[in-house]
Amino acid sequence: MDHFLYRDGALHAEDVPIAHIAEAVGTPFYIYSTATLLRHYRLFDEALAGTDHLVCYAMKAASNQAILKTLAQAGAGMDVVSGGEYLRAKAAGVPGDKIVFSGVGKTAEEIRTALTGGIRQFNVESEPEMEVINAVALELGVIAPITVRVNPDVDAKTHAKIATGKSENKFGIPIARAPQVYAHAASLPGLKVVGIDVHIGSQLTDLEPFRLAYSKVAELTEQLRAQGHDIRRLDLGGGLGIPYARSNEAPPLPVEYGAMIKETLGHLGCEIEIEPGRLIAGNAGLMVSKVIYVKSGEGRDFLILDGAMNDLIRPAMYDAYHDIVPVIEPAPGVEQRPYDIVGPVCETGDTFAKQRNMPPLRPGDLVAFRSAGAYGAVMASEYNTRPLIPEVLVNGDQFAVIRERPTFDEIINRDTIPEWL
Ligand SMILES: *Cc1c(COP(=O)(O)O)cnc(C)c1O
Repeated sequence: MDHFLYRDGALHAEDVPIAHIAEAVGTPFYIYSTATLLRHYRLFDEALAGTDHLVCYAMKAASNQAILKTLAQAGAGMDVVSGGEYLRAKAAGVPGDKIVFSGVGKTAEEIRTALTGGIRQFNVESEPEMEVINAVALELGVIAPITVRVNPDVDAKTHAKIATGKSENKFGIPIARAPQVYAHAASLPGLKVVGIDVHIGSQLTDLEPFRLAYSKVAELTEQLRAQGHDIRRLDLGGGLGIPYARSNEAPPLPVEYGAMIKETLGHLGCEIEIEPGRLIAGNAGLMVSKVIYVKSGEGRDFLILDGAMNDLIRPAMYDAYHDIVPVIEPAPGVEQRPYDIVGPVCETGDTFAKQRNMPPLRPGDLVAFRSAGAYGAVMASEYNTRPLIPEVLVNGDQFAVIRERPTFDEIINRDTIPEWL
């Protein structure tokens, strides 16, 4: 459920008509709903009620500080995957002891930043990384709390580009080698082992791969404890999927996911961390775009929008489906026609949808891409010297621009010309 509904024939974000925002900020733009963000965070928080837990929002999904602050004020921690994300979370007011640091390639510099500013834990992905964290901790005279990310070799049954829990993926250490790696970690004086971490992929629409992975983590917990390790925290990653096409079968709910976690891991008495990104932000955001031209082609018609693959890359990158709806509600029973919906970028890949049935649209009409809140704005680029599009946050009847559209001068002046030219 989200808070983007038609009222009196006009699509609203909470209590604000989207057409008003388009007038104020121009198109294209991203828009997020505070109520939806909070609702999704609370669904996870409530799903784990009764166990010691922390929901660490995977901020790579949508990392505007206004979004981080909204969630942090509700109690969320953050999962960060770079030094930049760490600093951004801190800038949004998230305390270090609620930030977990994931990612396969943390540099000594990034580790130093996090150890200096305070960190809940590093999720370590390899032994060489463990050595570097140890060295930086010793240099700073602190102890680094760590978990080791294990790769459980489970098929997440999701898109190949977002599956992370198979042995052929670059993530984590093979679960069979975990006892050795934990023994090594225990021997390093700059580290304190606090738990185990696992994250098997993104946009999972079935609980079974999670259940399989978490059962392996439960076994490993007992095994490591028997070897004397103090396993008190389990970071279970993110990955729960969202319904992109309204017509499709719904993925499992956070409450079902929470129940499965309690079932597989509850007996261990560990503190539970989860790192949802997409489910919190995905359906809390839209990308709004304007029709520039309606072009008739050979046997097919094109809707050419002012939004493009550089603004929302998911269709080009993952063959992702997004519902695209007109901002003015079509009259009931209006005849729909198939269009290819495309952007202006000079790539055939700049196609959002092929032969999508849409009501009649004219140049100047607005359309909204649903489920664009996660992996949307954060993956945007300035390809074709197209400015990064603004982000807007709605809260009830208020809205605020939370990232401005840069001017062309700002973009162009970022280049520097060498003296010899
Ligand atoms: C991307 C990622 C997440 C979030 O995944 P979602 O599918 O957005 O929930 C969580 N943890 C780690 C380590 C990740 O890389």
